[in-house]
Amino acid sequence: MSVFNLYNTLTKRTEEFKPNEEGKVRMYTCGPTVYHFAHIGNLRSYIMEDVLEKYLRYTGYDVKRVMNITDVGHLTSDADSGEDKMLKGAKREHKTVMEIAEFYKKAFFDDCAKLNIKTPDVTEPATNCIPEFIHMIEELLKNGYAYEAGGNVYFDTSKLEEYYVLSNQNEEELQVAVRDDVEEDINKKNKTDFVLWFTKSKFDEQELKWESPWGMGYPGWHIECSSISIKHLGGYLDIHCGGVDNIFPHHTNEIAQSEAYLGHKWCNYWFHVQHLNDQTGKMSKSKGEFLTVPLLEEKGYNPLVYRMFCLQSHYRKPLLFSFDVLDNTKTSYEKLVNKIAALGEDGTLMQQDIEEYRKKFKEAMGNDLNTSQALTVLYDVLKSSLDNASKRYLIEDFDKVLSLGLLDAANTSVEIDESLAEFAEKLIEERNQARKNKDFAKADAIRAELAEKGIEIKDTREGTVWTMAQR
Ligand code: AMP
Ligand code: ZN
Repeated sequence: MSVFNLYNTLTKRTEEFKPNEEGKVRMYTCGPTVYHFAHIGNLRSYIMEDVLEKYLRYTGYDVKRVMNITDVGHLTSDADSGEDKMLKGAKREHKTVMEIAEFYKKAFFDDCAKLNIKTPDVTEPATNCIPEFIHMIEELLKNGYAYEAGGNVYFDTSKLEEYYVLSNQNEEELQVAVRDDVEEDINKKNKTDFVLWFTKSKFDEQELKWESPWGMGYPGWHIECSSISIKHLGGYLDIHCGGVDNIFPHHTNEIAQSEAYLGHKWCNYWFHVQHLNDQTGKMSKSKGEFLTVPLLEEKGYNPLVYRMFCLQSHYRKPLLFSFDVLDNTKTSYEKLVNKIAALGEDGTLMQQDIEEYRKKFKEAMGNDLNTSQALTVLYDVLKSSLDNASKRYLIEDFDKVLSLGLLDAANTSVEIDESLAEFAEKLIEERNQARKNKDFAKADAIRAELAEKGIEIKDTREGTVWTMAQR
């Protein structure tokens, strides 16, 4: 197994990844709240988590990955003052909460399929696990980590030695957060306490309610992830993933209740993806208009171009979205597919060289998932003196992790033989020279000559790219 160094939010440093059981990884991902389409920011997180899972598999781990689907009332705040996202969706579309959940669950998995995001081994809707949530809350009440107040059940954060183990939050920041809240929940003993089970909420018109020892009600925001993870992956989790906005309070509270319930440390590695931002800041659904995969398709982008856009940056850096940069990525993607389409089938596998490049790929990915460096290794393979069979082998191999659909795209593109590719590159070079010399007549003649062979060219900021006209 090659060395895999990964940044761990829990220890706040990059460290070697070592699962609890040799060769096996138990991985949990916070899934979507299915009240609306996922925006491409949400999908950045899922793309990078997919890369993480696939890289673990690539290096030989047997991975079991679990994801929840939040399809039950989910408040934007623990103080019962935020909006209930599922109810909001149902009201907006004049549908029932379950209809909304079904529709957007399907939309989410459709988006994932288009982005080559593998479906986790287990996907579990929260509404399937109410008895498990109730059981966990009963245990927390029994062992003194929870209390009932005003009809709700709360987790008592003062019972923990270290509540902020994951986050950098401090009392001062929290004061600000509390001030920002419209109303404070007077039932809480401590301001960081959070609801495990609601029977009394501002949102009394909840459609989905269940019988419980505390009356008809529904679960709080955090209990579902702890409970679903423990249900499917047991009490020792290797790695837990989500976007950085989940660090506090969601993941902080997951740790609190899971460890209070289990009586031991729960999860060793925490993987967080930084946000996708637009000009106005973090991409979010509350802003009204937001970018989705179907919208990108409408504008003529292959969703895998967006996947490549994400892979070009490190997952721990905020990423600024713009159509200009996406256009550049589109050009790079098309160039890459053209180069692969032009590869012949000849050669025998050059095992030693193949291993050298695989090593370079693993060095890049093993360095805290440096996907842009891994892409550079892929370009190096194409530029190398390896024979075509070895190049094809390596592209297929790396794409098990990158999942850019490169060979498929190259195979469905028009047959481009190597001589035609060479011809195109040579004429483009001549045309560039002619343009430099301000010989525009010659440049136009070259464009026409290329067009005759079915080759279309486009001048972009990154240089001239060509495609076959029929594509
Ligand atoms: P939600 O459906 O709102 O629960 O979010 C699903 C996932 O997307 C969570 O892991 C969030 O942390 C993540 N997320 C939310 N906004 C962004 C963003 N702008 N960029 C990247 N990830 C995000
Ligand atoms: Zn979660």
